Amino acid sequence: MTVNLYFTIQELTATNLVKAGISLRSGGVSDAPYSSLNLATHVGDDPAAVLQNRHFFSKQSSINSLKYCQQIHSDSVITADTLSSIFLDSDNQNITAQTGDALISNLPDDTIGVFTADCVPVFILDIATPAIGIVHAGWRGTIARIATKTLAKMKDCFSTLPKNCLIHIGPSIQKCCYEVSSELLGRFEEQFGRKVHNGHSLCLQTANIIQLTDVGVKFDSISTSPYCTACCIDMFYSYRAEGGQTGRMLSYIQLIK
Ligand SMILES: [Zn+2]
Repeated sequence: MTVNLYFTIQELTATNLVKAGISLRSGGVSDAPYSSLNLATHVGDDPAAVLQNRHFFSKQSSINSLKYCQQIHSDSVITADTLSSIFLDSDNQNITAQTGDALISNLPDDTIGVFTADCVPVFILDIATPAIGIVHAGWRGTIARIATKTLAKMKDCFSTLPKNCLIHIGPSIQKCCYEVSSELLGRFEEQFGRKVHNGHSLCLQTANIIQLTDVGVKFDSISTSPYCTACCIDMFYSYRAEGGQTGRMLSYIQLIK
């Protein structure tokens, strides 16, 4: 039986404009605590295992190249045409990635992606232009409104309008598992209102939805994954549920030629 190494984001792929998906956890060669399909090189895993995992993922998904950033929990958005691709099916993947936490593109040759394990991957598809964006939004990126800053940069670069965008909030830690300090809850409530928390638990998904609808994205154009990464560590990596040392999933999006 073939193990599924990723699943597609059907709310976006149904447009026939993009490939979009997220890698899963099973079917790779990394040892604990990275077991087993860790796709990120920056978390302390054996580089040879990550390379093998990328080959497996590339073969099954037909995603061969990737542009990504060295993620630093910032609000900086990078235009993909300034970056080089790595080729996931090759043995040479040594590039110095630019720092940033979101990428945008309007070129069919670009597959753009972010690595996460609890943080929120936000997929953006402007169906009119068309153009794409992908965002890494942990609590720092979310409170800095990186998702709306990504839309603003898409407007500058591609004339993207929020009302034309489909958004998917990918698998990430949800309020069932995300208790935070009252100081942090207060900061979120100040920016996004009371809906972002439930007792001591923070809902990053809601904070991202609020900031996107605030700038004109239609509520009905936003879909949210049902999966909480911390509840489902058989399928996904969870930074919090696994004590801070674990692998990363890859969320990716690519315009179809
Ligand atoms: Zn949970």
